[in-house]
Amino acid sequence: MVLMRINFEEQRKRLVKRLKDQGIIRSKKVELSFLNVPREEFVWPDTKNQAYLDTPLPLGNTGQTISAPHMIAIMLEELDLEKGDYVLEIGTGSGYNAALMAYIVSDGKKERKGKVITIERIKDLVTFAENNINRTTFSEYVKIVYGDGTIGYPPYEENEIYDKIIITAAAPRFPRILIKQLKVGGTILAPIGDLFAQTLTKGIKRVNGTIDIKEDIECIFVPLIGEDGYKF
Ligand code: SAM
Repeated sequence: MVLMRINFEEQRKRLVKRLKDQGIIRSKKVELSFLNVPREEFVWPDTKNQAYLDTPLPLGNTGQTISAPHMIAIMLEELDLEKGDYVLEIGTGSGYNAALMAYIVSDGKKERKGKVITIERIKDLVTFAENNINRTTFSEYVKIVYGDGTIGYPPYEENEIYDKIIITAAAPRFPRILIKQLKVGGTILAPIGDLFAQTLTKGIKRVNGTIDIKEDIECIFVPLIGEDGYKF
């Protein structure tokens, strides 16, 4: 039997080209993050050969998924991360999106260190994501926290901490504490809706603490489960 080696780098370049041609990847920073973070290191081992299909993939038997590349690209373009940003992600999953964001906020240079704090409520996924991130060069820019992200990090802290907040699970609304933890002028992004369909929703925090809302595309995510999310 002849075993064919998969050329992941070639597949990665082709996927990025397709997402650019479709107008989904628009900025150089998102393009470079996709080219420099190996998705095959973040998918569940039995789906490795599907790493560069533009589709969500199951994360073992956890009931959770790594989102489709086009969905992640859309969210990253909306979030418009800057080098040096301090970012909170709710829903670590595989750690792939956290690694992409770490690539952008750290920008490979040391003078203005950005950081990604990412929270996951399933312990097995925390371990999975930690192992994945540790195989890349981004571990010093990512902190993975086990817990309920709907109460923020640190939990219940009401000070403004983050430049950007991204929720990668379907939320009934922006959790109250997360709005508190966002800096004025900062962006919060989440799929907001019911359990069956959501709208990607972007909020910018005004000086008076309220949120200016812009709704984007329809999408479908696994639910955000927690104190200020869905309760099961
Ligand atoms: N960003 C991930 C990636 O790059 O692989 C994909 C995220 S997956 C679509 C959504 C994740 O949100 C799941 O792993 C789920 O367990 C997690 N989640 C749901 N509710 C949560 C909560 N309250 N706090 C933290 N994580 C939560």
